Amino acid sequence: LVNAIATQIGVALIQAEAYANLQDLNEQLEALDRTRSNLVAITGHELRTPLSTIQVCLESLASEPDMSPELRQVMLNTALQDAERMRKLVQDFLTLSQLESGRVEWNIEALDLHECVELSLSNVRARHKETKLPNIENLVMEELPLVKADGEWLVEVLAKLLDNACKFTSEEGKITIEVSCNSPHHLEVTVADTGRGIEPKRLETVFDRFYQEEGALRRSTGGTGLGLAICRQIVRGWGGKIWAESQGKDHGSKFHFTIPIYIDQVQNQRSNQNIV
Ligand code: ADP
Repeated sequence: LVNAIATQIGVALIQAEAYANLQDLNEQLEALDRTRSNLVAITGHELRTPLSTIQVCLESLASEPDMSPELRQVMLNTALQDAERMRKLVQDFLTLSQLESGRVEWNIEALDLHECVELSLSNVRARHKETKLPNIENLVMEELPLVKADGEWLVEVLAKLLDNACKFTSEEGKITIEVSCNSPHHLEVTVADTGRGIEPKRLETVFDRFYQEEGALRRSTGGTGLGLAICRQIVRGWGGKIWAESQGKDHGSKFHFTIPIYIDQVQNQRSNQNIV
């Protein structure tokens, strides 16, 4: 009888555990569904805004043949700007979902961080060649251990952080890029600017999708609000972390991320030292 009761209790406990797991799973699925719906709503809104502007411009151009050439040009430029914004948005959105769904094939290799920084600096300078940029100082020391990451994605992260620093810093300001080597496992890259800064309570939210301080209606900087979310996913891809630091409004910002040191090389250095 004791054995039978013990068995019954055992079965009941297993059932209770299975039920609790099922409830957990249900809650997770509901949360996932809520996230998906939010995402669809936000993306829809972000796309609808520029699309409406394009439609209004084209309708005016089509319905007012006597429109002055100046106004016609303004309408065309506005429509083109918003079409470009939609293109960037769709491209960033696809990149982000590719990274989030784990569909990226990482090409992790030993990389010279110095070369990646130089490449991203020239990409950023080429992209902003029409505008006067703040002074950008490359303070990355020449002698650094190789890092272990995907080169293309690493250049992408550096370029996005530098792009943001350029966008939110006036021409008179300054941007620096530095690397510190205080851990045997990783290097820490810092992109710092003397620009408009970030409020302490926003230091985490800036990495959320579509977060833009100026709000959806005032996209003065032309960004998509997805850049930092993409950076976070990329850095996670090589097992690093990324975070922001700022003393607040108008006190500049610093973005730091870690990147693993290429271990074979560390081991080689150690064994060389042993041989000596
Ligand atoms: P965006 O396309 O708007 O630049 P991001 O995801 O790259 O999107 O950045 C999100 C928001 O974080 C920006 O709109 C801005 O409000 C804030 N931000 C990012 N970088 C900086 C910076 N260097 N200085 C001040 N604010 C920044």
